Amino acid sequence: MDKFEACLRLKEAFRYDVARVLLNNMLDSNRTRVEPVFTRREGLRYPYVEQITGLKPPQAIGLLESLYRMGIFRKMLHDKTIFCPDCASPDISVHLNCPNCGSMDTSKLSLIEDMHCGYIDKEEKFRQDGKLVCPHCGRTLARPGVDFRRVGIWYVCNACDSEFDIPIITFTCRTCGRSFSMEEALYEPVYSYELEDSIRDAAMTMRTVLNSLTGLLRSRGFKVSSPGFVNGRSGEEHMFDLVATQGADKSLAVDIFIADMPVPERVVAALFAKLYDTAVTDAFLIAMPRIREEGRRLANLYRIRLVEGNNRDEVLRSFRSLAGLS
Ligand SMILES: [Zn+2]
Ligand SMILES: [Zn+2]
Ligand SMILES: [Zn+2]
Repeated sequence: MDKFEACLRLKEAFRYDVARVLLNNMLDSNRTRVEPVFTRREGLRYPYVEQITGLKPPQAIGLLESLYRMGIFRKMLHDKTIFCPDCASPDISVHLNCPNCGSMDTSKLSLIEDMHCGYIDKEEKFRQDGKLVCPHCGRTLARPGVDFRRVGIWYVCNACDSEFDIPIITFTCRTCGRSFSMEEALYEPVYSYELEDSIRDAAMTMRTVLNSLTGLLRSRGFKVSSPGFVNGRSGEEHMFDLVATQGADKSLAVDIFIADMPVPERVVAALFAKLYDTAVTDAFLIAMPRIREEGRRLANLYRIRLVEGNNRDEVLRSFRSLAGLS
């Protein structure tokens, strides 16, 4: 994803309080990944997200999915597991049932071969004080594939004594008690969510600039919100990357865009549309590293002050002089 696209997606996500809180916390703490945990009662949860945002478990998952759809996160397969079809709990016990009588009282048996002497017998014959010892030659068999191998696995039913190779697998939910078959089981992927690199880079650049501007403006007596929301005359609420006010009649709004190529001129028209609807007196458009020629002309026409620069220091220098804060 190119920088400009990443920048637009971030702005979209930042409209939502919980998304902003989560993303800012991740950036502050240098965290790039959100991992799930399985709990007995609530099932699948993302505790970090719940803790940071105050959301309930299902809403925390909803937030992660929304941010995935916005292109902020990518999903990584963390696990694939069985969930209860009734209550969605992942706390499931697995039964290997007898195909003859249906009992779950079955035992798994295996044949073991001592790879040194070639002796083959049931595993229980090799079991001695928690180790495997060959009853034929007395050698201790420690390494599977080197000392010994399993040459056959089968099951025996303790209820009807029948022996079988393939048991009938059923499940019982430990949370709600529901028993269910393989057909009824939910077999679902579980994801961890990872911040897209391009999103992270764009966010870091924008934050560095916005934090510096916030510090500068506060030191000059401005009240600053970043992002800042302003109600328009049309009834629509507009978001700017930064809004600063001083007294009742001095207000200033900043939007920042970064791109690999020169920033497209449409951002100027979009900023003008917001200004036209609000009473903001001063507007700054920061384009990193620069804006297209047509955008420069438009900014001039709409009296939007254009700030360009390759890095924070260049942007800050230009902003100071244009805003008369040097
Ligand atoms: Zn049986
Ligand atoms: Zn042996
Ligand atoms: Zn259940």
